[in-house]
Amino acid sequence: MEVQINGHTKILGVIGDPIEHSLSPRIHNTLCKHLDLNYVYVPFRVAPDHLQDAVKGFKAVGITGFNVTIPHKKNIIRYLDEVSKEALLMGAVNTVKNIDGRLYGYNTDGDGFVKSLKSQGVYIKDKNIVMIGAGGSARGIAVKLAMEGARSIIILNRTLEKAQDISSMINNNIHNISQSDLFTNHNLICYAESCDILINTTPIGMYPDTNACPVEDLSFLNPGTVACDLIYNPEKTVFLSKAEEAGCKTVNGWGMLIFQAVSAFEIWTGVKVSGDLIKILHELCIN
Ligand code: NAP
Repeated sequence: MEVQINGHTKILGVIGDPIEHSLSPRIHNTLCKHLDLNYVYVPFRVAPDHLQDAVKGFKAVGITGFNVTIPHKKNIIRYLDEVSKEALLMGAVNTVKNIDGRLYGYNTDGDGFVKSLKSQGVYIKDKNIVMIGAGGSARGIAVKLAMEGARSIIILNRTLEKAQDISSMINNNIHNISQSDLFTNHNLICYAESCDILINTTPIGMYPDTNACPVEDLSFLNPGTVACDLIYNPEKTVFLSKAEEAGCKTVNGWGMLIFQAVSAFEIWTGVKVSGDLIKILHELCIN
């Protein structure tokens, strides 16, 4: 069934720069089609200088909602009418909903990551978590993991101040459960001993540099540890292969990508997306 655009069609979209490689139009238009909803999802390339004008224009034409991606996730906040507590702590918004001309900001990245783990039978409550990297995605995920009741969150990064900044934000605003340290092999081995979930949030190993890995060796991992990589291209990074060799369950970044989109879609439309439809999205994206 093709999307029929008519006078009732509601508009969704994504803003970013660049935007042409975004998978979001594919994911959201598939959801609209399968759920028979009269919406269309459009990519908009918006240069940083035009962000405010784009937001004004979206308000003026009454767009239903939009995603926000690099480089606008932080700067969009100043142009919104309200922002969720979670998104404020994350310092980034990836989803905006227009309710009667007022723009509300959310961040579904952490939610997407947690739902991706849940879909694999992995739960956060009372877990000891070690994260490698302290960039934008690490911050978003760490907030959500703390809110979901993680027992501890250790953040290892080559720039210690950035890891410390995330830990303090969690300790001061959510629960006092986070520590940070420099990312070295020695530190990773020490912290990984009692780790339930180890997450690579760095881009090391991402296409085209697919032979790279943030660690030389993961044979010290306890086989009970779940190893996650936010990278989805390639599907199995060297980091995940090494963890698998150590006997660990592994989770790649596809689930996070799909579930963050599903959470945004549910915010805009109020329609719950079924597990069967999520499987269809997964196949669509990886093929
Ligand atoms: P980012 O903000 O640029 O942060 C990258 C982090 O990795 C920084 O902490 C950086 O350390 C560290 N890092 C980078 N290169 C390194 C190196 N050679 N050695 C040691 N540390 C290094 O990036 P991001 O937005 O968080 O994204 C990170 C990854 O997550 C990317 O691969 C992205 O595609 C993926 N991602 C996936 C999803 C999904 O839906 N699956 C969503 C978001 C992001 P410094 O702080 O020292 O610079």
